[in-house]
Amino acid sequence: MIYNRGNRADFDALVALGNPGWGWDDVLPIYRQMENHALGAGPTRGAGGLLDISTATDLPQLCDDTIEAGVAAGLKRTDDVNDSDEERIGPAARTITRGTRVSSARSFLRPVLGRPNLTVRTGATVTQVLVEGDRAVGVRVTDGGTMTDQRAALEVVLSLGSLATPRLLQLSGIGDAAHLRGIGIDARVDSPDVGQRMREHRTVTLQYRLRGSVQITSADPTAPLDIDPQFLTSASDRQRTAALFRRIRDLFGLEPVASKIRRETVPGPGVQSDDEIVDAALDLGYCGYHAVGTAAMGPDPGDVVDSRLRVRGLRGLRIVDCSVLPTMVAGNLNAPIMAMAWRAADLMREDA
Ligand SMILES: Cc1cc2nc3c(=O)[nH]c(=O)nc-3n(C[C@H](O)[C@H](O)[C@H](O)COP(=O)(O)OP(=O)(O)OC[C@H]3O[C@@H](n4cnc5c(N)ncnc54)[C@H](O)[C@@H]3O)c2cc1C
Repeated sequence: MIYNRGNRADFDALVALGNPGWGWDDVLPIYRQMENHALGAGPTRGAGGLLDISTATDLPQLCDDTIEAGVAAGLKRTDDVNDSDEERIGPAARTITRGTRVSSARSFLRPVLGRPNLTVRTGATVTQVLVEGDRAVGVRVTDGGTMTDQRAALEVVLSLGSLATPRLLQLSGIGDAAHLRGIGIDARVDSPDVGQRMREHRTVTLQYRLRGSVQITSADPTAPLDIDPQFLTSASDRQRTAALFRRIRDLFGLEPVASKIRRETVPGPGVQSDDEIVDAALDLGYCGYHAVGTAAMGPDPGDVVDSRLRVRGLRGLRIVDCSVLPTMVAGNLNAPIMAMAWRAADLMREDA
């Protein structure tokens, strides 16, 4: 729903890490093509595309006051938060049209549901990638107690998300060979970074440097995952979290919003030191639902996928979801992964 595209620096960092074709100058034209922005087309915005985007035009007074307090704190007021990378404040851009939330399925899939070469199955669970020799040839699917194998003519594309994609890879024998053998799975591709390098936001949001991880605990696809996000374990993340928290607290100390607040209820004025703030973020915050990096792309033989999102060590297997992002994007991930999927479609056509 919140439509934040990430900054130029986030995408240019992907290129600097050895992933050509993912820089801001590659991604901005995709955003502009896919967008149908209520504010109209502009150098940084698209109109007429498949994805409806709007901003609230009837903000409650308290929101307006908060924006004004942000301006008093030195932020630039903007009607389109995706228009620049400056320190800015304004109403959120949202994938909402005529009061209804739009999804990627509604925007991109529904218009093509009638195509004869498209079959959509919902409620089915993929439990394994089928491999013959060094090639992925399909997937095993369970649906209401029935198991079927689906063969792929050209390639298999996994888009299960940052937790389920590494699970399926590991269940299929693609992962850290020692770990897989330890739980009774034949290792087909020794790729120790599968499920590693996870980054996630905490609700005082920041980027985490320490690596979290996602590991299967058994060969049973329904067994719980072992997820270790390593939230706020590095000194740098703890300091940044405290600094950001203080900045937000300071903003609410400015007019016109300050005089409308009687007292801070959560975490409360007793929370002052860096440690107290970080403890509050850990106790009272929650994950940002923005996990990335568990099948990260990069140029090194150890990176799970290459910059064309192809899984190393097997032919015919690609990943298109947030797990391929080696670093975190500033903001939310729905917009970036839609643009990345758009580009991935081009890569698939080029490689076919
Ligand atoms: C509550 C919540 C609110 C959010 N709000 C926002 C927001 O406002 N703005 C924003 O930008 N982002 C938001 N996000 C984050 C955003 O939804 C995700 O970052 C984004 O959807 C990730 O895209 P993805 O393609 O990597 O994976 P997903 O969108 O998670 O897609 C993975 C799909 O694979 C399916 N799947 C998984 N395993 C299997 C399997 N074994 N077999 C078959 N199918 C499978 C899942 O059911 C799912 O449909 C929110 C997330 C949550 C949880």
